[in-house]
Amino acid sequence: AKKRDGKNGAQLFDNSMLDHARARAEIETCIETGLSENWFDAYLQPIVNLNGRGIAGFEALMRLNHPQKGLMAPADIIEVAEETSRIVRVGNVIMEKAISHLARISRLPGMQDSYLAINFSPLQFEAALPARLASLLGRHGIRPERIVVEITEAVLMHNNPEIRTIVGEIRRFGCRIALDDFGTGYSSLSYLNRFPVDIIKVDQSFTRSINDANEGVRQKSRTLVESITTLSHKMGCAVIAEGIETEDECRTLHDMGLDFGQGYLFHRPRMPIA
Ligand code: C2E
Ligand code: MG
Ligand code: MG
Ligand code: MG
Repeated sequence: AKKRDGKNGAQLFDNSMLDHARARAEIETCIETGLSENWFDAYLQPIVNLNGRGIAGFEALMRLNHPQKGLMAPADIIEVAEETSRIVRVGNVIMEKAISHLARISRLPGMQDSYLAINFSPLQFEAALPARLASLLGRHGIRPERIVVEITEAVLMHNNPEIRTIVGEIRRFGCRIALDDFGTGYSSLSYLNRFPVDIIKVDQSFTRSINDANEGVRQKSRTLVESITTLSHKMGCAVIAEGIETEDECRTLHDMGLDFGQGYLFHRPRMPIA
C-alpha cells in the first residue's frame, strides 16, 4: 500500500518505484565495475547424451562474482544489461572466457570434440560479431563446428532484419544454431521453416510438466513434447531437454526420443578447473 503526502493528493513516486530504481542503479554499477574489475566469468554446465549420459558439450552461463555480494544470478543482470546495451560488452567477455575454458577442457581425454553453447541476446548480433567470433576461435584453435549459438525467439522476431542476416552468416561460417527455451513465448513453428536452426532446446517447464501429478497436464505435455521432438527430427534438428532434475524425468524424456539433456541430475553449472 502506498502513502500519500496528503497535501496535493498524488505523488510522483511511491516507495516501491524508488526501491526499484535504486536496485536497478545498483545493478548498473555492478555491471560497470564488474567489467572493469574482471568480476564476470562463464560457468559451464555439461550437456549429456541421453543414451549413456556421456558429456557431449557445455553451455556457458554468465556469472558475476561480486567480492562482497558473492555470485549474482544472471536474470536481473541480463535484463538491465540488455536495457542499457551493456550486454554487448558483457557478452564479449563471456564469449572470450567460455572459449578459453573450452580450449583447456579440450585437452582432457575424450573432450577434444566436445562443443560449447553460448547464449546471445538480440543486441549482440552486431556487424562485428562474426569476425570477433572467428578471431577468438582462430586464436584458440577451435573449429567453428564446435560452437553452438543459442538464440531465442526474440532474436528471430526482432524488427531489425540485420540480426537474422548476421545469425545466418555465423551459421555459414560453420557454427550451429540452437533455439533456446522452445515452447515458451509464441514458438511459431514457421520459424523452423523460414530460419535454419540445428538444435531445439525444449524449455524446462516441459521437463517439469511431463511428470505432473495431474494426469491431464501430464498427458497433454507429453503429447506436446513428443510432437515437438518428432517434428524437429524430421526437420533435421537434434533435441535437448533443459532442467532435468530427477531420474523419472530423465527416463521419460529418453523414452520420448529426446537426444540430449541438461540439468542438476547430471551436473550443475560450475567453473571448469581443468
Ligand atoms: P537458459 O539459456 O535457458 O539457461 C538454462 C538455465 O537453467 C540456467 O540458468 C541454468 O543454471 C538453469 N538450470 C540448469 N539445469 C537446471 C535444473 O536442473 N533445474 C533448474 N531449476 N535450473 C537449471 P541461469 O544460469 O540462471 O541463466 C538464466 C538465463 O540467463 C539463461 O537461460 C539465459 O537465457 C540467460 N543467460 C545466461 N548466461 C547468458 C549469457 O552469457 N548471455 C546472455 N545473453 N544470456 C545469458
Ligand atoms: Mg541457453
Ligand atoms: Mg534455455
Ligand atoms: Mg530456459
